[in-house]
Amino acid sequence: MKSAIYPGSFDPVTNGHLDIITRAAPLFDQLVVGVFHSPPKSLLFSLDERLALMRRAVATLPNVRVESYTGLTATYAQELGAQVIVRGLRAMSDFDMEFQLALMNKKLVSGLETVCLVASTEYSYLSSSIVKEIVALGGTVTGLVPPHVEVALNQALHPTDGPAPKRTSKWTM
Ligand code: ADP
Repeated sequence: MKSAIYPGSFDPVTNGHLDIITRAAPLFDQLVVGVFHSPPKSLLFSLDERLALMRRAVATLPNVRVESYTGLTATYAQELGAQVIVRGLRAMSDFDMEFQLALMNKKLVSGLETVCLVASTEYSYLSSSIVKEIVALGGTVTGLVPPHVEVALNQALHPTDGPAPKRTSKWTM
C-alpha cells in the first residue's frame, strides 16, 4: 500500500492546500494530512481548531485522513509507514526551503521521497498568512478558503460579542 503524508501548519487550510490534497490523493492509496502541533511561528488557530477546519474541508475524500503530529516530519512519516512526503511549490521562493527539507528528510530516513506538486496558477499567490491579513483588515476571502474557514476567520479576527477581541491582529497590509 502506497501511503503519503502532506505536512503543514494549516493555519488555516486554504483552497491552495486543498488543491494539492485533491490532486495528491488519487496518486496514493492513502494520504495523511499531518497538522503540525507547534511550528516555530505564531498561530491564529489552536491545534484542535486547525484539525477541525481541515477535517471538514476534506470530509468527502475517502482516502484522506487528518492527524496531528509533533517532532520531526520524517520520523512521523516513518511511524506511519508513509513512503512519500507531499509538498506544494508556489514559486522559486518555496523552492530553496523545499529542496533543503527534501534532502534532509531523506538523510534522516533513507528511502523517504518528497513529491512536490506545483501550485495551480489561481492559487500560486495564496498563503494562510495573506488570507489572515486580508480578513484582519476587513476584506473578504471568498473563493480563497472554504466557506467554513471564512466563517472561522471572521469569528477569530472580528468577534462581535464582548469588548475584547479574542485575538488581535499583528498583520499590516
Ligand atoms: P508550512 O508551515 O509547512 O509552510 P503550510 O500550511 O503553510 O505549512 O503549507 C503546507 C504545504 O502546502 C507547503 O508545502 C506549502 O508550500 C504548501 N502550500 C501552501 N499554500 C499553497 C498554495 N496556495 N498552493 C500550493 N501549495 C501551497
